[in-house]
Amino acid sequence: MKIYADNAATTKMSKTAIDAMMPYIEELYGNPSSLYSFGQRAKEAVERAREDVARCIGAEPREIIFTSGGSEADNQALLSAAAIGKRKGKTHIISDAIEHHAVLHTLKKLEKEGFVVTLLPVSESGIVNVRDVEKAIRDDTCLVTVMTANNEIGTLQPIREIGALCREKGVLFHTDAVQAVGHIPVDVVKDNIDMLSASAHKFHGPKGTGFLYAKKGVALSNLIEGGAQERGRRAGTENVAGIVAMSAALSESVENMGETAKRLSVLRDKLIKGLSEISHSALNGDARMRLPSNVNFCFEGIEGESLLLLLDDMGIAASSGSACTSGSLDPSHVLLAIGRVHDVAHGSLRLTIGDDATEEEIDYIIAAVKEVVKKLRGFSPVWRDLESGKTKHIL
Ligand SMILES: *Cc1c(COP(=O)(O)O)cnc(C)c1O
Repeated sequence: MKIYADNAATTKMSKTAIDAMMPYIEELYGNPSSLYSFGQRAKEAVERAREDVARCIGAEPREIIFTSGGSEADNQALLSAAAIGKRKGKTHIISDAIEHHAVLHTLKKLEKEGFVVTLLPVSESGIVNVRDVEKAIRDDTCLVTVMTANNEIGTLQPIREIGALCREKGVLFHTDAVQAVGHIPVDVVKDNIDMLSASAHKFHGPKGTGFLYAKKGVALSNLIEGGAQERGRRAGTENVAGIVAMSAALSESVENMGETAKRLSVLRDKLIKGLSEISHSALNGDARMRLPSNVNFCFEGIEGESLLLLLDDMGIAASSGSACTSGSLDPSHVLLAIGRVHDVAHGSLRLTIGDDATEEEIDYIIAAVKEVVKKLRGFSPVWRDLESGKTKHIL
């Protein structure tokens, strides 16, 4: 069996998205800035896509800027909010410890430029406390940025409440909704969002395409200078085929969202139940407030990397930590933030199931993980010490 269970890293493009993009590669390849009709047809396609994308998140078309993906949208949102703040003498930013590196590294850069950043802790189950946000807001706070859903442990943050709080205090609120858009309901009006980042390849669109929503009146700064595309907010010839495919993928995902989320949640809970039977293991993140596709576990006495390789041999593509952190020896900042000690954090496994996952596949994954964990523990000197009582079990 071949099972792709790493949908938080990227997703397979949908047939709908591929079909939608092909005409803009093969025939309608004109430049949207060109005045002849051949170019104008490309421009019309981009504007239709903008309307569709806007509708999917409750925004207005003019509030959508197309970008090269989630990272660019995060960078532009944070740098724009910082520039707005600086003009008013406000240089304090609030975020949290489990954000994606596209946010955390941009915050580091802003710190070097003199901004003061408060990184809030999260609870043991990986959730930001709204009261903590409230207490952290100061007179000079210019931005609160908290993700909608976490890419590693799948936890859902109380963004509607945080957004409402920010509105009340007159502070801009940005959310990295890359893992949420197309998977769970997101509405920029109801959720009180001023800026939002999303990425096509996380909802069955193509890689290298995404968008930034910025509420009317929020002045965006450019990351890229050049032509007047995207109303002067993002220079560069539009990725027409990518934008069209993204809107098709998003419209389809949103249309099927309720049904998909319901079905995946059942499979997710079955997977969680099955893996919980492994001794000295623990679920990472919150059992209820989590994405329908996300399962993340720590197993004591295991190396995450070895676990991945053996699962790969059995046809299962999974992840340990996040794609961005694997390859480095540091354990995931997210797992450390929810209180996992280094050794335990190293033994993590993230399974993010696809929209077409079946019960049979879940059974196969449970059996495979049980087998592989048992095998690796059999070789592990760390596990031997734990079992003999020489060292103490943590989980
Ligand atoms: C994938 C991801 C990003 C980065 O998006 P790209 O389109 O790959 O640049 C940012 N934030 C989160 C939460 C993500 O999961």
